[in-house]
Amino acid sequence: MAWLARRGWTALGADDIARFYAGEAVPKRSLVITFDDGYLDNFIHAHPVLTEFGLKAMLFVVTGWLGEGPVRRGAIELPNHRECKRRLAEGTGDSVVLRWSEVELMHSTGSFEFHSHTHTHTRWDLQLPTGPDRIAAISQELALSRAALERRLGYSSDHLCWPQGYYEADYVDAAVKQGFNYLYTTENKPNLRTGDPLHIGRVVTKERSAAWLGQRLAIYGSPLLSHLYTKLRKS
Ligand SMILES: [Zn+2]
Repeated sequence: MAWLARRGWTALGADDIARFYAGEAVPKRSLVITFDDGYLDNFIHAHPVLTEFGLKAMLFVVTGWLGEGPVRRGAIELPNHRECKRRLAEGTGDSVVLRWSEVELMHSTGSFEFHSHTHTHTRWDLQLPTGPDRIAAISQELALSRAALERRLGYSSDHLCWPQGYYEADYVDAAVKQGFNYLYTTENKPNLRTGDPLHIGRVVTKERSAAWLGQRLAIYGSPLLSHLYTKLRKS
C-alpha cells in the first residue's frame, strides 16, 4: 500500500468502476483493491493501513456471517486462516469475523466500501442439482445480502462477488435479475473499458512483494501485454 501511494496510484471504488465501463476517464494509474468474506483482520490490519495511505478498498462481505457487539479495540491476536474457517464452521465465528459495528465504522471513515458476497457463502452447485431450485436458492441469497446491507448501511450496491469465484451462466442471469450489474470473478484477465462488467477479472496477490505487484499492474494495465501474458499462462 505504501508503494502504491508513493507512486500516485488511485484506488477506485464502485462508482468509479461504473463510470469506467460507461466510457468515462479514470486516472492513468488506477486500480481496484478488493477483499472478500469479511474476516476481522480486514479491520485490525487492513483498515489502519488503508487509512494511513489514503487508499480505499472494496470489501465483498458475507452478510450472514457478520456479528453484533461493540467495535473491538486494542491488541488482538488473530489465528491463521485455517483456524478462522474452523471457528466459522463450528459457530464461533465472532472471534474472527467482522461485526456490523466495525463495518459501520470502516464505512463511515471511507477506508472500505461494502458490497455483496452473498448471505451465506454457500456453493449451491455442491448442494443442489442444476435447475430452478438452485437458482431460487442463489436468488434468495442475493436478495438477503442486499437487504442486510441496506438495513445496516443505508445502501446496497449493484456489485457482487461470487463465493470462491464459482458461477455458471444461469447464475449471472439470476444476479442481473436481482439488480446486480457488476460481477467479480477470480479469473486473471484484464478489464477493458469495452469489456464485460458481468465478468470482471481480478489478480490474487497473497503475500507478494511490491515489485511483484508493480509487474502485475504493468501487465494487466496494458491490453497487449495482458493478452500475451494470459495466453502464456494457459499454455
Ligand atoms: Zn469468499
